[in-house]
Amino acid sequence: MLSQRLNNLHPYVPGEQPKDRVYIKLNANENPYPPAPQVAEALVDAVKAKSEKLALYPDPDANELRKEIANMLNATGGVLCRSQSQGGKCSPCEKDKIPFEVTPDMIFCGNGSDEVLSFVFYTFFESDRPLILPEHTYSFYPVYCGFYKIPMQTVPLKEDWTLDTEKMLSLAEKNQSSIIFANPNAPTGLSLSRQQVAEMLRQAPKDKVFVVDEAYCDFGGESCIPLIKDFPNLVIVRTFSKSLSFAGMRLGYIVSNPDLIQSVFTVKNSFNHFPVDFLAQTAGIASCKNADYYAGTAKKVVEERQSLTDFLKSKGWFVIDSLTNFVFAKKEGLSGQEIYQAVKKEGILIRHFATAGIEDFVRITIGNHEQTEALKKILGEL
Ligand SMILES: *Cc1c(COP(=O)(O)O)cnc(C)c1O
Repeated sequence: MLSQRLNNLHPYVPGEQPKDRVYIKLNANENPYPPAPQVAEALVDAVKAKSEKLALYPDPDANELRKEIANMLNATGGVLCRSQSQGGKCSPCEKDKIPFEVTPDMIFCGNGSDEVLSFVFYTFFESDRPLILPEHTYSFYPVYCGFYKIPMQTVPLKEDWTLDTEKMLSLAEKNQSSIIFANPNAPTGLSLSRQQVAEMLRQAPKDKVFVVDEAYCDFGGESCIPLIKDFPNLVIVRTFSKSLSFAGMRLGYIVSNPDLIQSVFTVKNSFNHFPVDFLAQTAGIASCKNADYYAGTAKKVVEERQSLTDFLKSKGWFVIDSLTNFVFAKKEGLSGQEIYQAVKKEGILIRHFATAGIEDFVRITIGNHEQTEALKKILGEL
């Protein structure tokens, strides 16, 4: 009764969401702060004053939302934690300024960046050659390779946990392949500079799409959006889930040149015409209009990240200096599983990966101040 296709599926296993007890959740890189108050107001208004809209199909192409995303990127440079806010308006810091105007035709929106990534895999990657990706990166990429029967070639990270860009490039050249990675990468939290990505793009196959997943960029990486005009094969995927406190609503987007965006629309319109519902569009628009609030929460996350990193280092931990909303850390003499269990016993969930090579580490999402202090107390005693 089951299709052959089903044999290729290896579903993603998310961070646990237990029901047995109320835990502090620092295991799924969610934002500890609620959305801007204006987002809740917009939703209440949508449900009460505009409830007749719920009976109608939403704008299939999310045009107003795409316009507001473009505005937000122009105003923040795609890095919230460094953008300055004054009188409710954001402006990018000098090094994040995008040297052209991001326009709505450079944006595609979907129902979370996981769905957007699925469209990207379908639109751009072939089954006759391997996709090149790091061995340790976002674990949904291999899942989609299985789903779409795209072969993959994984490249181990270097000793210092950075991407082996030379090896990735030589494989891409040899196979005339696409490349995908997260920047900053997960679960390490390390980032390539825009300069380094530009260097990769200069050497990578020009007629194959090159995907950079910027899920965590707002917490301190360098966005590659400024490279889009120079590299027409660059596709950048971003999400509202982390820096915009939106994981429960689902919204992700692509930034790329309008031709590639059009191709993704073709796939979307052949699969699910209306991926972003009316409420998500409404809340997304309100989020973008209040980017200054999220610049504030991103700065707070960066502060807590620094404080947790310093604390763990002072207690003899090995901590990778992160540019994300999580840290990847280990302590000699303890396995990742032991750390995870000890912390869980005290009511806090963190993430441990049983994957060879990173099994000694735990990945800890940065919470608010109170959560960070509670965690320090537990980890300090291990
Ligand atoms: C969280 C995450 C995503 C998924 O984001 P959603 O928009 O919630 O689907 C994509 N890529 C990376 C690297 C992530 O960490």
